[in-house]
Amino acid sequence: MAWDGVIVSDSGGFQVLSLIRKQGKTGAIRSNGVTFQESPTAKKIVLTPEKVIEWQFGLRSDVVVALDDCTGPEDSPAEQLASTERTIRWFRQARKAYDLQCRQRRSGEPPLLVGVVQGGTDPELRQRCVDALVESGAQGFGFGSWPLSAEGELEREMFALLSRITPPDAPLFALGVGRPEHLVSLCELDMRWVFDCTIPTRDARHGRLYSFVPEIADRLLTPDRSFYQNVYILDEENSRKDEPICATCDCPTCRRYSRSYLHHLFRVKDGLADRLATLHNLRFYTRLLEMIRAGRMARPGLGEPARVG
Ligand SMILES: [Zn+2]
Repeated sequence: MAWDGVIVSDSGGFQVLSLIRKQGKTGAIRSNGVTFQESPTAKKIVLTPEKVIEWQFGLRSDVVVALDDCTGPEDSPAEQLASTERTIRWFRQARKAYDLQCRQRRSGEPPLLVGVVQGGTDPELRQRCVDALVESGAQGFGFGSWPLSAEGELEREMFALLSRITPPDAPLFALGVGRPEHLVSLCELDMRWVFDCTIPTRDARHGRLYSFVPEIADRLLTPDRSFYQNVYILDEENSRKDEPICATCDCPTCRRYSRSYLHHLFRVKDGLADRLATLHNLRFYTRLLEMIRAGRMARPGLGEPARVG
């Protein structure tokens, strides 16, 4: 990849389990891992706690995630319990594989090992999972299960719980989060959250681009959508606009190209459209985090918030 930045990988468990559970793809969750087949003629893939650690060491990741059994918020308490117990057991196996890999393959700094916290909406089960992961040597903690409610709202209370019950210096991994307003919401809770989501790049490829509202310089970030707008670049109104996607953006796309040119690239399905749009959406996210770090957030419950940064 010729990438000298930080590499973060995931176990692949969430993707496979959601294909099995939600899309009815062939596969099964067994006591020692997950089997998966994309189609009847495709090769069978077997994910075990040991293998996914080995693969992530092969990628030379700086952050590796142990295999977990991911449930959804709609699953029964019995399923949540079984998933939590399986996740704990798999983590112990993953930790042994991690120690072995550290001895065999790596020189220098070993990667950070993240355990995923399951337990659905049951605080006691979540606590039990955290305790077991800590005892087994987890160095970071991922948010297990689907992060949004059926209405698309962030499961903020469960994230707040994880912030409270995990060791205070451990990084927290908000797997599958998220939308710009969700990043603001979680950073309000705790600055330890790390984000990982397909939304900015997938939206870019579908021509949905983000633009800070023009008055952002006078506004604070809030956990709603008032600080940005979606620009649907294929909308007819963008076919003649000479302005960039976002007036204040310093990304290579906004510095050089107009909305009308991007509109044209999307319309003729030029591959450059995806790349320019992706560059912009990713820069929108890094600018958002720069603003968050500079203390531009409105803190709830404080009345008229003071402006910082
Ligand atoms: Zn831009």
